[in-house]
Amino acid sequence: MGRPRGSRHITTQEHATQLVDQAWEALPAPHRELLTEVGASQRLVVEQPLGTIVDKLLRSADAGGLTVDAQAKTDTAIAVWLQRLRLVVFNLRNQALVGLSPDAYAQALSQTAWHEWGHALSIVRCTPDDVRDGPRLLELAPTSVDNAIRCAGYRRDEYTYELVANVYAALVERRLERLRGRPKWLNQEIYDLVVRVTGWTERCEPSTGCPQDRP
Ligand SMILES: [Zn+2]
Repeated sequence: MGRPRGSRHITTQEHATQLVDQAWEALPAPHRELLTEVGASQRLVVEQPLGTIVDKLLRSADAGGLTVDAQAKTDTAIAVWLQRLRLVVFNLRNQALVGLSPDAYAQALSQTAWHEWGHALSIVRCTPDDVRDGPRLLELAPTSVDNAIRCAGYRRDEYTYELVANVYAALVERRLERLRGRPKWLNQEIYDLVVRVTGWTERCEPSTGCPQDRP
């Protein structure tokens, strides 16, 4: 059986763009507004390591380029937020996305997008005290989060950003599962930080019609 007339296969890039768009639409409206304000609402999906393309994008915008070291580090990322260009760039060819089932692929891409957006909010909205507190906060985090951040080789002054980004992505996912409130596994102090920094709210918008929120 042929495809309906006028339809065509969408490319990997188009498919991924749709998934990232869906992840964006899944965010509460006030978060999308906040992200637009901080310059993280635009997105670009590519199929190559990010170091070279980010370097090119920055240079063509007269925003300086990346050092060779920074390029190599960026090459390993699934996505990166370019604050100066107000853009999040995703690499579909990253090893972490290769060979996944369609469901796992969609989930990994959404998680990455939510992580990057949480990251953008944390970079713009964390106070210097929050950043200094990173190593202590990490000790209060679930072991899996603590290990993931330490093993990835982040600097101590990046711990808070990573922590907020990880927890934010997890909270967005919980929200889609209609779970509310602080998850049991999450320390109260970290939860309060994420609420303050990302403007996290447990309230539901009328359009999502969450039964828990009905009077
Ligand atoms: Zn991150």
